[in-house]
Amino acid sequence: MHIETQSIHAGEKTDVNARSVTSPVYPSTMFRHQDEAGGPSGYIYTRASNPNRDNLEQLLATLEHGSQAAAFASGMAASTAVFQSLDPGAHVMVSDDVYHGTRLLLTGLMKRWNLESSFVDTTDPQQIRESIQKTTRLIWIETPSNPMLHITDLEKIAEIASAHNIIVSVDNTWASPALQNPLDHGADLVMHSATKYLSGHSDILSGVVITKAESPIFDRIRAIQGGSGAVPSPFDCWLLQRSIKTLAYRMRGHSENAGKVARFLEAHPVVEQVYYPGLPSHPGHDIATRQMSGYGGMISFSIKGNGDDAMKITSSSRLIANATSLGGVESLWEQRIRSEPEETQTSPSLIRLSVGLEHPDDLIGDIDQSLNQM
Ligand code: PLP
Repeated sequence: MHIETQSIHAGEKTDVNARSVTSPVYPSTMFRHQDEAGGPSGYIYTRASNPNRDNLEQLLATLEHGSQAAAFASGMAASTAVFQSLDPGAHVMVSDDVYHGTRLLLTGLMKRWNLESSFVDTTDPQQIRESIQKTTRLIWIETPSNPMLHITDLEKIAEIASAHNIIVSVDNTWASPALQNPLDHGADLVMHSATKYLSGHSDILSGVVITKAESPIFDRIRAIQGGSGAVPSPFDCWLLQRSIKTLAYRMRGHSENAGKVARFLEAHPVVEQVYYPGLPSHPGHDIATRQMSGYGGMISFSIKGNGDDAMKITSSSRLIANATSLGGVESLWEQRIRSEPEETQTSPSLIRLSVGLEHPDDLIGDIDQSLNQM
């Protein structure tokens, strides 16, 4: 089946007694034991499992072409579970342009786990080959990456990794399963901040890890999920499943709008450089065209000005909200360094834009009047 159909039907379990068309919400934190009245549900306690979480996980495993999924209370909880599934002392290789929270997690909290990490340019397979150590257990790739939209060739990296018995895990947040399926390109695990495109309406905090096949690593991730308990509520699982029904159509709209906005920005005299994989000028354009079915809704661009100018532009918009994060129906932008830690390498003149589903002419009009404030 196609993703438009899967998004609507996979994991959907209607209430046969009420003859409902959509799944009910099961807020119950506990379930009757099977030897008492209540039937063979298999559910005991919601931290361990819940019907809404099961439905959501089945849907996400289907959309990412995986075998199982584990849903978490946030993207960071999902990433933490992946890193905690490794033994202390393991080495992790990470895309150098990576969500700053992932970098902080590895260089901060996970240091106490005695996990070693190196940040390398994963767009360059040679750098990956040279950075492999005896203890390297995992390569963590973000493509497109946050905030510079670097594109990594997943098949090339998976080939190198499998020759060394290294797991490849891909943060697929910026593409979503509607535009890219890393497991089809040789990855072992996919992680999402479901807070972004999967939710799509800026009202759910959630994360997920999907595995291609049963594995000891995924068994540990599953044990961490229930054991440490950073699980999404049944209502959030239900709402996320509801939101995902329109994912493919939303991603098509985000990509189409972002393409138009990126071309407008590229021609604007105040703009220095546009980073969008859909533009032929982007160094990862050919790889993105091969491994993605659309280029997504995220654009970063630098302006011919300083940080104050970037701040002025982003606070001058009338339609686009000056806010962090991404993936919702409403457009957002920000001077990116406002949301990154002090030691960031991001230029003060970089603006990150999450292109929403408003009419592109309205967005371009608002961007134009904001750029003209400079
Ligand atoms: N990965 C990427 C690429 C992100 O952009 C984010 C958040 O911005 C995260 C992970 C973290 O997700 P969450 O905020 O849901 O914990």
